[in-house]
Amino acid sequence: MFNLILFGPPGAGKGTQAVKIAEKFGWKHISTGDILRAEVSQGTPLGLKVKTVMDAGHLVSDELLIEIMESVFVNNSPVKGFVLDGFPRTLNQARELDRMLLKHGHTVSLVLALEVDEDELVARLLKRAQDQGRKDDTEEVIKNRLVQYHHHTKPLIDYYLDKKLYQEVHGMGTIDDIFSQLCSVIKL
Ligand code: AMP
Repeated sequence: MFNLILFGPPGAGKGTQAVKIAEKFGWKHISTGDILRAEVSQGTPLGLKVKTVMDAGHLVSDELLIEIMESVFVNNSPVKGFVLDGFPRTLNQARELDRMLLKHGHTVSLVLALEVDEDELVARLLKRAQDQGRKDDTEEVIKNRLVQYHHHTKPLIDYYLDKKLYQEVHGMGTIDDIFSQLCSVIKL
């Protein structure tokens, strides 16, 4: 089983590329942001719990995320692979992911990071706010989300560098160019 983590700050294009990679390789795309947004729009107890945190651009608790991912792994096996988009976002989540995969005899196969300038990230997120009407894409909340990324998620770079799993890809350019660069790095 190939377990790919698509890594990068909000607005780097993880979602767009994750869909394309999952389609090409026949893997299951898991976006924790999409899972949480679906819970919010359905008004489930979990959705009600996380709505204010998400609207403010903060991170939902590790405990909830790990619970969600446990059920993802249980409900989707067997698959040929996963493309994880938006998870893990903290060291704690990364360690728990290793533990969950190991329980099923698997490991993280590769972490591909999309490198995008901060100015470009903000511009993309503001555009997405207009196009998709996402509540967490206002200027104030975007700032918060980038702070969360720098504070909680960036330390994962060292975690995966240590494991020799981390690889960067330039995330500026056309969607197709970036996609082919990503594909060229994925060695099955
Ligand atoms: P995303 O669509 O990946 O940008 O996620 C949207 C929002 O969902 C984030 O700003 C967080 O509030 C929440 N979220 C998604 N994934 C995670 C995660 N792995 N850990 C904590 N919060 C998350």
